[in-house]
Amino acid sequence: MDAHATLMQEIDAEMLATAGWTGRPHLAPRVRAALLTVRRAAFVPTALRAEAYANHALRIGHGQTISQPFIVALMTELLDPAPDHVMLEVGTGTGYQAAVLGALVRRVYSVEVIPALSAQAATALAHEAVGNVSLRVGDGASGWPEHAPYDGIIVTAAGPTVPPALVTQLRPGGRMVTPLGEPFSDQMLTLIVKDAGGSVSRRDILPVAFVPLVTGEP
Ligand code: SAH
Repeated sequence: MDAHATLMQEIDAEMLATAGWTGRPHLAPRVRAALLTVRRAAFVPTALRAEAYANHALRIGHGQTISQPFIVALMTELLDPAPDHVMLEVGTGTGYQAAVLGALVRRVYSVEVIPALSAQAATALAHEAVGNVSLRVGDGASGWPEHAPYDGIIVTAAGPTVPPALVTQLRPGGRMVTPLGEPFSDQMLTLIVKDAGGSVSRRDILPVAFVPLVTGEP
């Protein structure tokens, strides 16, 4: 079995092991297929390609990391992506998570605060022929209002609270997955659901460790 298929088995096992926390023992078949289709190796720095299918986070430069594959899988699963969805990502990083979502939904808008990372992500997405992901450089805490509302919002860096603009830009019935907490400690992956009437509920999913969501324009 190749490294990518082995990784998928590890993700399956970790989904099962954490189901008491997450309520999701299995990945939806579409989500699992997307994770098998998108080549993580094409998004990680060249020097780390040999580790692309190891189930841990990797350094991507500029003090940032690409999340552990299991966490990418879990966050994607919690969004319940559907083919007609439009989603927003805060924290493009390598573009890998955006590519996974791109395989599952109609269109992905992704905001990154570090221009060099956004440029590298654009190159990788083009190389992998991902045509439905749009990138922008800026502070993702303001979202991307021009394309709102979103069926799903994924935040891949941790802040102490949910930026209010993101809640505003979530469609009624939409789902947001975000780590919440202080930098590098005591963070909780959190699922936020906006109901049809616009009321918001939140649920703690799993303790996690993400890089900080920086505030303010670059
Ligand atoms: N989803 C990425 C991993 C992202 S790591 C991937 O698949 O590779 C978190 C990213 O969030 C980093 O690239 C960091 O620069 C970015 N970030 C931090 N604060 C941000 C903000 N306020 N707005 C947009 N991006 C931000």
